[in-house]
Amino acid sequence: MSAGSLFHAPLAWLDGRWQPDVLLHVGPDGHWLDVRAGLPAPDAAQRLPGPVLPSLVNAHSHAFQRAFAGLAEQRARDSDDFWSWRERMYGVALRITPDQLRAIAAQLYTELLAGGYTQVCEFHYLQHREDGQAYDDELAMCWALADAAREAGIGLTLLPVLYAHAGFGETGLRETQRRFRTDAGWVWRACQRINAAGLPLVSAGVALHSLRAAHPEDIQELQRLVGATAVPIHIHVAEQQQEVRDCVAATGHRPLAVTADYGLDARWQLVHATHSTRGEIDRVAASGAGVVICPGTEANLGDGLADLEGWLAAGVPMTVGSDSQVSRGWVEELRWLEYGQRLGQQRRNVAAAPGRQPSTAARLFEACLQGSAGAAGLSSWGLTPGARADFLVLDPDACGLAGMPAATLLDGLVFASQGLPWQAVFVAGQPRALRDDARLRRYAGVMAECWGD
Ligand SMILES: [Zn+2]
Repeated sequence: MSAGSLFHAPLAWLDGRWQPDVLLHVGPDGHWLDVRAGLPAPDAAQRLPGPVLPSLVNAHSHAFQRAFAGLAEQRARDSDDFWSWRERMYGVALRITPDQLRAIAAQLYTELLAGGYTQVCEFHYLQHREDGQAYDDELAMCWALADAAREAGIGLTLLPVLYAHAGFGETGLRETQRRFRTDAGWVWRACQRINAAGLPLVSAGVALHSLRAAHPEDIQELQRLVGATAVPIHIHVAEQQQEVRDCVAATGHRPLAVTADYGLDARWQLVHATHSTRGEIDRVAASGAGVVICPGTEANLGDGLADLEGWLAAGVPMTVGSDSQVSRGWVEELRWLEYGQRLGQQRRNVAAAPGRQPSTAARLFEACLQGSAGAAGLSSWGLTPGARADFLVLDPDACGLAGMPAATLLDGLVFASQGLPWQAVFVAGQPRALRDDARLRRYAGVMAECWGD
């Protein structure tokens, strides 16, 4: 067994600020033994050429939708919205095979690493064969994602999804949703099998597609099966105004309030949570649950703007996700998270907290750093002893970073950088490829199979 490895960085983001001369010690298991500032570089240390930043968790991904990103940006009718996008997205979902999913996800996960994410939470509902029947191994599509994560070298939190109904008050699914059909028993069995497989860098939690697709008896049954097991529980909630109206019509209450009635705790991750009231935010804050905002996808789908200030002020754990994969890096997600607020409110630096954290980028980055472990179901995250040794080495000469004073380096990264801002991305103490030509060609081949004439 190796004794691990030592790195030394001129600067590293520790305890919410840049600190100089940081010695980073990775243990033989790929987790941090120690991270300490203000130390000289011993001879044995590898000197890193730029500032070190912890990576972030991508808390919401549907890998197969990578094959659809950019293909729904044309309008041939009077209006286009989330629901018409969804019908076209189903067209892709209905034809992808496990081999194709493996190729799509391997390329996506490589792009996510280049985007500064080293762990991805896969909200996975594309389970069955094209005809809706189970594969010989009912987890064939789950294993395809795990294979892709191993190939790219990214950490994976697999979240098999409970998807049982087409809408509030409807029983069962539509024909176009036949590949998604699961119940609480299926989801819990999948979660247990994936965890029992003991794959490196892979773990599982559970997910509920939404309140419209998982009815009260489904949700309660899954809660009963999960019990007190420490696995993350993700759910899409309050993404669309139409969903809010349907939920109020069916239950008399708004979606976040209905979700809170199930008894949330820190395992729960509320994806989107776009349409909220002050009272709902207070209830979520009191529960310890986190929110997962997907600014690129929410902009692309015309979902609306989350109450960023409300969530931040309430101290609710926050993460971002690439969701439909139109954007695959957290820099762009944080930029748009703030820009949406500026455009809507005609103000600047909305996320900043004067007196506590004047840097907008630092406030957003820290919020997502703090939310990362919980979203992925990991016990810790970041440059801290015990956490997996995942990190980014910034390129000090990158466009937007060269010559930047440390106090504004993170703002420069989020609001003024262009192109790849890091020289290297490490997972469990090992550098990862940020581009792989064979993987890219395989992905392009699958795209041609899906979309070629
Ligand atoms: Zn989603």
